[in-house]
Amino acid sequence: MEYIFAREAKFCIPLARPIPVVLEKGKGVYVWDVEGKRYFDFISGFGALNQGHCHPKIVEALIRQASTLSMTTRALYNTEVGDFAQYVTSMFCYDKVLPMNSGVEAGDTACKLARKWAYSVKGVLKHQAKIIFPVGNFWGRSLAAISSSSDSKCYEDFGPFMPGFDIIPYNDLSALESALQDPNVAAFMVEPIQGEAGVIVPDPGYLSGVRDLCTKYNVLLIADEIQSGLGRTGKWLAVNHENVKPDILLLGKSLSGGVCPVSAVLCNSEIMSTLKPGEHGSTFGGFPVACRVAIASLKVLEEERLPENAHKMGNIFRRELENLPSSIVSEIRGKGLLNAMIIKETKDFTAWTVCLRLCANGLLAKPTHGNIIRLLPPLVIKEHEIREAAEIIKKTISSF
Ligand code: PLP
Repeated sequence: MEYIFAREAKFCIPLARPIPVVLEKGKGVYVWDVEGKRYFDFISGFGALNQGHCHPKIVEALIRQASTLSMTTRALYNTEVGDFAQYVTSMFCYDKVLPMNSGVEAGDTACKLARKWAYSVKGVLKHQAKIIFPVGNFWGRSLAAISSSSDSKCYEDFGPFMPGFDIIPYNDLSALESALQDPNVAAFMVEPIQGEAGVIVPDPGYLSGVRDLCTKYNVLLIADEIQSGLGRTGKWLAVNHENVKPDILLLGKSLSGGVCPVSAVLCNSEIMSTLKPGEHGSTFGGFPVACRVAIASLKVLEEERLPENAHKMGNIFRRELENLPSSIVSEIRGKGLLNAMIIKETKDFTAWTVCLRLCANGLLAKPTHGNIIRLLPPLVIKEHEIREAAEIIKKTISSF
């Protein structure tokens, strides 16, 4: 392993602080390192592996399409885009979809759509549109995404920033209502549960309140479900917990079961049709492999009832962990299988040292912000596996 650490250090830069383990194989909820040691993967590609590692149906779709017609660009028609578009729009009840690649591109696309809609439908004066974001939002690392960030580590040395973005407190309907007094507001973009910020679950009624306010003030509600969607919280979408329908829905990560980057922006025609040919695009957005893989990934979630499984396994998991010593763990929180463990750090142990010991005990997890360890297993996890994983966590915590 030392050789691999050294080579990466020589030719790359460390973008995250990786857990010192070198993986070479994955299957379902497990990964194996180069020495053959098996681990539960509670990082799950930051939520890109809801269907588990190397799901055979997704891998098969990838290989079949890659060896038939891998790439065309949208400058030509192909047999696959329409199939995917029809499938995903009927599944989530929207008129149209715009396929992209990474999550941050989906977020950027949504901001462009909101601005275009504001100018061409709402009547906002050109270049005056505003988009509101809550504190703690995370939608990627592009210049636009960091311009809406409240985390100085993300934005500090990278200005100047995108104008027209305002930040308000999360989980605060009166702050939203005052921000929406401004007639130039085009959209409010929000994660129904904030993942990267540390699995922040808003109060019951927040999302439906957001929906009502956006409707009242003629502002688009953009739900960033790139991490919370596709079964992760125990329903297809986290907004389903409050029966909310966003105007623009963002999907990514597990839309491809972790085999290639695929994201999607969904909305109705009134919004999507404001974009005209030549105004947006992406070389790989909606390439045939992505479309096939995305259909296969959605079918796996459906056929294996993974949202339901996430709900059941999440309840078992949180129950198993509820009696961890409060001198070390101050809280376990989350919904479905989007959970976090909050560590009471001291000078002797931190969330990072807990993760290192979890790794030694056969479970991979990482701190997200400071003392918060995000616990994100693949949704295919079975009851005996979630109990075994919970045992590893209990054993690790009680060893401190
Ligand atoms: N939106 C949310 C909620 C995310 O958690 C992330 C990444 O973690 C993104 C967007 C960005 O996705 P990507 O890293 O694929 O650009």
